[in-house]
Amino acid sequence: MDILVVGAGIAGLTLAAKLLQQGRKPVVVERAEAFTDRGYAIVLYPLGSSVLHGLDKYNEAMASAQVGRTYEVIDGKGSLLQDVDLSMLGGEIGPMVLVTRTRLIEILHDAARGADIRFNTTVTEIGQAGEGKAQVGFSDGTSGSFDLVVACDGLHSHTRKLAFGSEPEVFDTGWDLWVWWAELPEWQQDKYVESWGNGRFFGLYPAPGHVMCAAGMRRDHLNVSPTDIERAKPFLKDLFAGMAEKNGTIGRSIDVATKLYAWPMSDVRAQKWINGRVCLLGDAAVGFLPTAGAGANTAMRCAASLADELSRVDGRLVPLALEVFEKRCRHIVEKNQNDSRTLAKMIFVDNAIIAWGRDEIIKHYPMAKFVKDIINSMKQPF
Ligand SMILES: Cc1cc2nc3c(=O)[nH]c(=O)nc-3n(C[C@H](O)[C@H](O)[C@H](O)COP(=O)(O)OP(=O)(O)OC[C@H]3O[C@@H](n4cnc5c(N)ncnc54)[C@H](O)[C@@H]3O)c2cc1C
Repeated sequence: MDILVVGAGIAGLTLAAKLLQQGRKPVVVERAEAFTDRGYAIVLYPLGSSVLHGLDKYNEAMASAQVGRTYEVIDGKGSLLQDVDLSMLGGEIGPMVLVTRTRLIEILHDAARGADIRFNTTVTEIGQAGEGKAQVGFSDGTSGSFDLVVACDGLHSHTRKLAFGSEPEVFDTGWDLWVWWAELPEWQQDKYVESWGNGRFFGLYPAPGHVMCAAGMRRDHLNVSPTDIERAKPFLKDLFAGMAEKNGTIGRSIDVATKLYAWPMSDVRAQKWINGRVCLLGDAAVGFLPTAGAGANTAMRCAASLADELSRVDGRLVPLALEVFEKRCRHIVEKNQNDSRTLAKMIFVDNAIIAWGRDEIIKHYPMAKFVKDIINSMKQPF
């Protein structure tokens, strides 16, 4: 079976690695010249990390990860709203860990060694005449025909545009998240802390070697570019002065920042996942806000499910495998995305009364239920 995977990100590399195990040799095209740091770490929980068992990469990933044991939510004035014991997950489904995206990509790339990975290449056209193969043109002037094209080219998928035409539904919070790395030796290595303020958000997430810092604010309140680091740092110091007064690490993390990466807090949901022999996977199908820490985990799980369905067909029956794959995954993926959108609406608040009401709800929310929901999510067939 001739399979083209567009995008060597989390979904694309996981799928390529699973297909290699079936003796299939996918072609993978990646627009970037090489893998680069995107400034963030990924909370991996068993929804995604369990897929690494099947790739014989679980232990390697865990050796590069930091186990999270505590998750604290603080209000804008520095008072503790909730304190969640994440170690409760460990015994029943496995731990929640933080790994840098760069390291996870390295591990998946290693698992996908043997696939025909072509960097600096993208798809320029896709034709699907009748029942036959998809005809694909590449940016390097070459072309090929494939039984299946899987678009794993992320939130702003160009392949989705080429093959489906229609625009996905967009959910935009109106906020941006700036993330960066900070060396903060004093920070407790297994503790995630989020400060949910009014009009501002700050998160500290320790990964091996350094802490990922995340500052959220309304896009229309920004008066400086994150690439202008000399002006951006005083802007952040000013915006987060109140929070930094209660938690000195916030101020220090801004002081030591050397590069800020900006992420608009918006996502997408495609109306269709399948068009003939083209299928969307990962953020290209259902893009995720980072709020629930679910996008990469869900992408890995879906890649494994797609590979599983493909293992039962030959090239002729690819459309059947795609149909079953969508039935198997779509409702759970969209539910996960709904959860991340609900959390975003709670975190990205810019109104004092709503922020107060939210804090009251969080203070009294039974966090055991939150943990139970994560455990139950692992017991869904997916
Ligand atoms: C700050 C931040 C924190 C996050 N934290 C978490 C977390 O804690 N847990 C979690 O599960 N998820 C998290 N996510 C979400 C997660 O990163 C995404 O959901 C996940 O990366 C989706 O994987 P993907 O393979 O679909 O897309 P991507 O990982 O974005 O990969 C897409 C790939 O396609 C390539 N590409 C793009 N266009 C083309 C093209 N035209 N042709 C060829 N190649 C192309 C890109 O270069 C890239 O390599 C976070 C996201 C952000 C921004």
